[in-house]
Amino acid sequence: MSQNLLVMLKNRFKSILALVICAGLISCTTGNDSNNSVTLVDRIPTENTNQFYVSNRAPLAPSALIKLPVGSVKPEGFLKEYLIRQKNGLTGNLGEISAWLQKENNAWLSKDGTGEWGWEEVPYWLKGYANIGYIMNDQPMIDESIIWLEAVLTSQRENGDFGPKLMDGDHPDFWAKMIMLYCLQSYYEYSQDERVIALMTNYFKYELTVPDEEFLEGYWQRLRGGDNLHSVLWLYNRTGDEFLLELAEKIHQNTSDWAGRDLPIEQVRNHYEVRDGGEVPDWYRDQVDWHNVNHAQAFREPAQYYLLTKNEKDLQATYENFKIIREHFGQVPGGMFGSDENARPGYADPRQGVETCGMVEQMNSDEHLLRITGDPFWADHAEEVAFNTYPAAVMPDFKSLHYITSPNMALLDAENHSPGIANSGPFLMMNPFSSRCCQHNHSQGWPYFIENLWMATPDNGVVAAMYGASKVTVKVGDGTEVNIEETTHYPFEEEIKFALSTEKAVEFPLYLRIPTWAKGASITVNGEVMKDNISGIGYAKISRTWANGDQVALTLPMEIQTKIWEKNSNSLSVSRGPLTYSLKIREKYFKKDSEETAQWDSKWQKGVDKKKWPAWEIHPVTDWNYSLVVDENDPASSFEVMEGHWPKSDFPFSLEEVPIKIVAKARQIPEWQLDQYGLVGELKDLPKTSDQPVVDVTLVPMGAARLRITAFPELLNSNN
Ligand SMILES: [Zn+2]
Repeated sequence: MSQNLLVMLKNRFKSILALVICAGLISCTTGNDSNNSVTLVDRIPTENTNQFYVSNRAPLAPSALIKLPVGSVKPEGFLKEYLIRQKNGLTGNLGEISAWLQKENNAWLSKDGTGEWGWEEVPYWLKGYANIGYIMNDQPMIDESIIWLEAVLTSQRENGDFGPKLMDGDHPDFWAKMIMLYCLQSYYEYSQDERVIALMTNYFKYELTVPDEEFLEGYWQRLRGGDNLHSVLWLYNRTGDEFLLELAEKIHQNTSDWAGRDLPIEQVRNHYEVRDGGEVPDWYRDQVDWHNVNHAQAFREPAQYYLLTKNEKDLQATYENFKIIREHFGQVPGGMFGSDENARPGYADPRQGVETCGMVEQMNSDEHLLRITGDPFWADHAEEVAFNTYPAAVMPDFKSLHYITSPNMALLDAENHSPGIANSGPFLMMNPFSSRCCQHNHSQGWPYFIENLWMATPDNGVVAAMYGASKVTVKVGDGTEVNIEETTHYPFEEEIKFALSTEKAVEFPLYLRIPTWAKGASITVNGEVMKDNISGIGYAKISRTWANGDQVALTLPMEIQTKIWEKNSNSLSVSRGPLTYSLKIREKYFKKDSEETAQWDSKWQKGVDKKKWPAWEIHPVTDWNYSLVVDENDPASSFEVMEGHWPKSDFPFSLEEVPIKIVAKARQIPEWQLDQYGLVGELKDLPKTSDQPVVDVTLVPMGAARLRITAFPELLNSNN
């Protein structure tokens, strides 16, 4: 063959190759709509059933979104940094602090259910601690978790009961076991250990034999039956055992009536706590209970029951519950409500707070409801609590936390603030020895949030349901396993990038949630704008045959928004995207003895090193009594956003390192001071004018502020 001919053939081959590549490109970039398009949908369709992940089994209502097994989503950025801080801080070391976690004579470790410390604390802690281990592939944490889980798995008695032999008054206590069932489910997702299925099956057979008058009879367990119901349906989806549907019905019948309205007052707990001895308002009878943690976790029970009944009324009851508590106690920024133990009529000012337990249970409920309904409202809300209120409840090093966090909070000390807040004692102290329930229950917040960032969809696709830097491994389309890396500093920046890796091309829908606050979102695929100006819709669906290296970028414009809280004296709050902003107050930390500043029900281990685990008071160094000066006609123009560098620590939730601030104009209100209870004075008592000069103040994301003013009082002369 001549040299020329060889060159000619080579060139010809190149041309053919180029043509083939070109044809491929053409079909990728301009091809038909069904295989390269972005469409907008309110909800993700549920006609199909996901072929790779366990979904709701008939006759249950179909799964809207499907949880991926723990470990499928790996955090990056600050989410990873949070898990590291939890491990090095309170969550990872609680075993050497908390009396309930000591192993000696611990009822959770005993074969026959006898011993001490056998209530909610161990499983509260374990449900977050173990999941951090699974998510981070941290073998020491996994090994420690398995000591507790193994003891549970080998503790089942002849009658099917397991774990500590617990009584709640004269009746058996099912509550602590509801939490341990969550731990077992995560362990099963991690290990596929079939003993979990056997234990749960036998335990639920036992529950079915318990007479109604003995079942869920105590205060906490009766209100929180929804958690038991969740675990029964989880097992039903895996085994299809018919008796589980019967048990699900029985649990619902024995759980407090969370769909009840206009209830007899005797059925409503906490009704005696009305301010100044006033009358119980009629609306107080529209919820069966007003304890903050009970509400945050149990308001969802009717929506869980809806999976059985498919009756829209049940689903609606959960939406109404959410609205009712917020209408009367949640007229504040940050996503939560004022219920510093119980929500008390007359106490709805932004100085009222919520337990750390309340926040993480609310996030867990939002994640449940997102999976049940597919409604992106619940994702918006989980992010709101996760990015604003929850980070404020713990110290930046995650070595201590407190019981109550409020939107307006200008002093954290060891004093008693009752009756300004419901409880008597040092409930505002950042203390690793204290806040018994929150001390253990805080652990689930971030790991559960991370597990739910990504979910499978019924049409064999995947959805970025909540946003955060992460990597997901998921089976899609024809069963091909793909990896998607999400790179972003969200919620501190507008752009979120996704990079796909796959061994072969695979067709599947990728859904991206469009948050309600985002106006004019846009999406590019491999640099080409596929859709822009997206607003007011649930999800963008990108249908495509995906190839290795495909890149997607989502931009969610973050505008400054102000909100007036009419029911709280027309107070004003400022948000930008998912972040709410608070007045920056310079904080001074005072180290205190953790034993001396602990609440009455705290218990710690003998010999725990108090020096290593101090408690903290936080006092304000700068003034906090400001009202913001805002142009009513163009509120956003009154603020200047200052974007800084991303912190080297990867941790944005501290005053020193927060990468974004807002400069605002403000006027002081000299009459606004701490009141006789040592709390920020109530807004209703403030004058509506101020003769103080207008000055510049700095706002920071609420989650970075351990002291904060987040609901600013109204001044009628603020502009002149
Ligand atoms: Zn708590």
